[in-house]
Amino acid sequence: MEQKVMDPVLQKALEQFTALDEKITHFSSIIGLTDWDQKVMAPKKGRAIFAKATGTLRTEVFKLMISSEMGVLLETLSKPESAKELDVNTKAKVREYKAYYQKSKSIPADLFQEYSILTAQANDAWEEARANNDFARFLPYLEKIVDYKRKFAEIFGYEEHPYDALLDEFEPGLTVKRLDPLFAKLRESSVRLLERIRGNGKRTKAEIFQQSFEIEKQKAFNRYILPIIGFDLDAGRLDETVHPFAQTVNTGDVRLTTRYLEKNVRSALFGTIHEAGHGIYEQHVTPEFEESILQSGASFGIHESQSRFLENMVGRSKEFWKFFFPKLQEYFPAQLKNVSVDDFYRAVNTVEPSFIRVEADELTYNLHIMLRYEIEKALIAGEIEAKDLPVIWNQKMQDYLGVTPSTDTLGVLQDVHWSFGGIGYFPSYSLGNLYAAQILRTIQKELPDFYSHIENGRFDVIQEWLKENIHQYGKLYTPNELIVKVTGEELNADYLVEYLEKKYAEVYGI
Ligand code: ZN
Repeated sequence: MEQKVMDPVLQKALEQFTALDEKITHFSSIIGLTDWDQKVMAPKKGRAIFAKATGTLRTEVFKLMISSEMGVLLETLSKPESAKELDVNTKAKVREYKAYYQKSKSIPADLFQEYSILTAQANDAWEEARANNDFARFLPYLEKIVDYKRKFAEIFGYEEHPYDALLDEFEPGLTVKRLDPLFAKLRESSVRLLERIRGNGKRTKAEIFQQSFEIEKQKAFNRYILPIIGFDLDAGRLDETVHPFAQTVNTGDVRLTTRYLEKNVRSALFGTIHEAGHGIYEQHVTPEFEESILQSGASFGIHESQSRFLENMVGRSKEFWKFFFPKLQEYFPAQLKNVSVDDFYRAVNTVEPSFIRVEADELTYNLHIMLRYEIEKALIAGEIEAKDLPVIWNQKMQDYLGVTPSTDTLGVLQDVHWSFGGIGYFPSYSLGNLYAAQILRTIQKELPDFYSHIENGRFDVIQEWLKENIHQYGKLYTPNELIVKVTGEELNADYLVEYLEKKYAEVYGI
């Protein structure tokens, strides 16, 4: 058969585009490394200038992404006659760059640089504010960030709600109109379930966790489980930070962080499993996508589905602890020798309204997210102002969870997200739960022995399925395309609602 020859102009454009993509990805991977360094390694006194240096590099990447060279290449590669000649990978890359290009083109470079420096410095201000329960220390930064975000929403454009423009950055195509009913259904059922648990649920032995667990042993246990659950330590690291995160330099260098608390063994344990879910996703992306924009996950929500799936559906299952609990008892004999695996399982699934999102149980977690979602929507719409947040925060905590934090450190200052300008990010966490429950339904159909594999420590079988069906594709598909491809339907809140009701009926005997 005759080999089809590509039009030479298109061929040239494709080569230039591939080179530009590689250059941008290389710079981005270095930026990822500096982000990690700033949070994990950098001494305090050098951080402000470090932040400026990173801001400069970020601006250079931004300039490349909105350069006239990029504009011309995207135009050439997007022509209908070009589309027929390009492979699916290239089309996906064009889709990703084009979305960013069109959105960002109208942001002046100097505005973007000011914003980059602001968010880098805001991180230090937030850390200090949080450490000293001093909202006023962070407020001027937060006000400026909200101002920028309102401006960006107008620049990006939206059809119905300005917040849609920001949501789209994290979950392409998602809108308030689509999200409101999904969240409403979940909120209604979560509040009802919470009432039933608090009304006539059997109590769990949560006091197991009120003991001290030596930090050195916690570290050793976390290192022990990571490779078993599928994280490749030859292609990654585990370090410590205030706010746990996963950062990819490339698929062979994925860095996780966690936070060890002597009085709360669950914090590092489930934090590490969670971040490992993100990390394994990135380690599993096909080598074909290395050094390109496709080397990352499909979206923040899909990414979060992988961390939630591993943390909750797998890590908080009874079978997980049937496998790991004897080992945990070996590490902590004094604390756990008289605890049964069933009591331990029920204790790790204790439902209790609390102040801190990252420490929240699987059920009340989504209520923490809805509170932030409501606040962000109103902030961006100009219905409320940053200075009012401590009061609004505490009021909503009382309304949704029935508790009021005694300090801003335990309230409005607890999360890092607003300091880096991540407004629109929070809904991804609950979306992650929604996607994860829908994926669980599918994986159980395709691997009927799903829970037996967990009980037997055969995490490789589960990871292989996730790699085959989700991870390997990186950013090839949009989130909606991917969830339809994997589960056969669009995102639906029913699966999470059913999962939570079934699980807590068992844990609490209701
Ligand atoms: Zn996460």
